[in-house]
Amino acid sequence: MSREFTVIVSDIVERSEKILLETPLCSRCLGRLFAKYGLGLSNQDRGLMIKTLLALKIFTEYSRGESSRRNHYMLALNGGDQLASSYMKIYGEEISPLSCYICGSKFTSSFIHEVSEKACEILREHDASSFLIGVVVDEEISRRELDLLVKYGLESMESIKRELKREIGKKVAENCGLTPNFTNPDVVVVVKIERDFTYSITSEPNPVFISGRYWKLGRNISHVPWITRSGFKKYPVSIQEFVGEALRGIYQSEDVVIHAAGREDVDARMIGSGRPLIIEIKKPTKRSVGIEEANKALRELSRRYPIVVELFSKTTRSSKVFVKNEAKLRRKVYRVAVYSPEEILPQDLVKLEEFFSNREVKQRTPTRILRRKKDREKTKRVYAVRVVQVSQRVFESLIYCDGGLYVKELIHGDYGRTVPSFAEVVGKPLVPIELDVVLVED
Ligand SMILES: [Zn+2]
Repeated sequence: MSREFTVIVSDIVERSEKILLETPLCSRCLGRLFAKYGLGLSNQDRGLMIKTLLALKIFTEYSRGESSRRNHYMLALNGGDQLASSYMKIYGEEISPLSCYICGSKFTSSFIHEVSEKACEILREHDASSFLIGVVVDEEISRRELDLLVKYGLESMESIKRELKREIGKKVAENCGLTPNFTNPDVVVVVKIERDFTYSITSEPNPVFISGRYWKLGRNISHVPWITRSGFKKYPVSIQEFVGEALRGIYQSEDVVIHAAGREDVDARMIGSGRPLIIEIKKPTKRSVGIEEANKALRELSRRYPIVVELFSKTTRSSKVFVKNEAKLRRKVYRVAVYSPEEILPQDLVKLEEFFSNREVKQRTPTRILRRKKDREKTKRVYAVRVVQVSQRVFESLIYCDGGLYVKELIHGDYGRTVPSFAEVVGKPLVPIELDVVLVED
């Protein structure tokens, strides 16, 4: 044994003697006061080792005639274990030790076992495959810890909360074969410890997030249910209701919400590439549903609604923010059918294609949404336009542009709030009559 090690150990033993002369502590709570020294032991084993060494020290002092019975009595009363049995050996008197100042001698292996069994049960009910344990301890327990820390200057101490968290977590992983996950657990289990060490367990299941894409093959479909002021649904179905109807049952979930990469107008279709979305399944009781099973339910429902949703893979909460934010960065291709009260000439269409080539467009918030959005100006870019005449007064156009550009306003100009516009370039009033999103770039 190195000299340094011997010094550390005898220092720990001496300080423990001082503490145990005044404060009853179980082995685990005593060991935790010196956690920083590690010694490759659990708090329980370290505490037991300290008590054993202390008993040896007392016994040596006794053989030399240097010990005081009163001190030994106090150590036996407050420390129990070897200190009580050595007292019994020397003085023939049985001692029933006091219960631990911090945990009331309740923080035992069987306590951890019991709590973790209950936690496992809850995790199984949630169909969890990963978990995180949270611990809340009554402030009276924390006050007692702080009390010792200040009184004995214990810079080497670990908190009981941390040990509880670690030990319960370890046992849960062992007992139910689940993986602890500190950043993205399926379920967070919170153990609340009262001052008398009774406890309660609550659980907070995290939502399941799945990435996918959707297609709107019909018009007048909103993202989320659109309820009018008089309390009626404005459109028969929304993407969110569609997804909810297909998936709530198989995930046994309370609620399903969607987070899409931007949105098209309610009356626009979303065809071609489809649009990325993240589905959030809240408080699911079944989590281990295969993507194929979910897709099957969605396909089944597509027979009844002009909506298609395809899911790709499970993802994390952060992707929900990501898919929303990068929506603005994704370029789009729109197909729009345009009507003109005046006859359209072939040169009008040539002009449009030539003019809208990598052209900057300034748009103030469209008048049609001014009621719900702040009036501001933004600059977007139209990269290319292709036009096909359908009849004397109708043409169809493909528009390749920045995400977030208001296409209807690009056509009619919105009373000069969108500049330049198709109407301005051809010098004729134009009305967009049908709009489809054809491509949302990756
Ligand atoms: Zn204790």
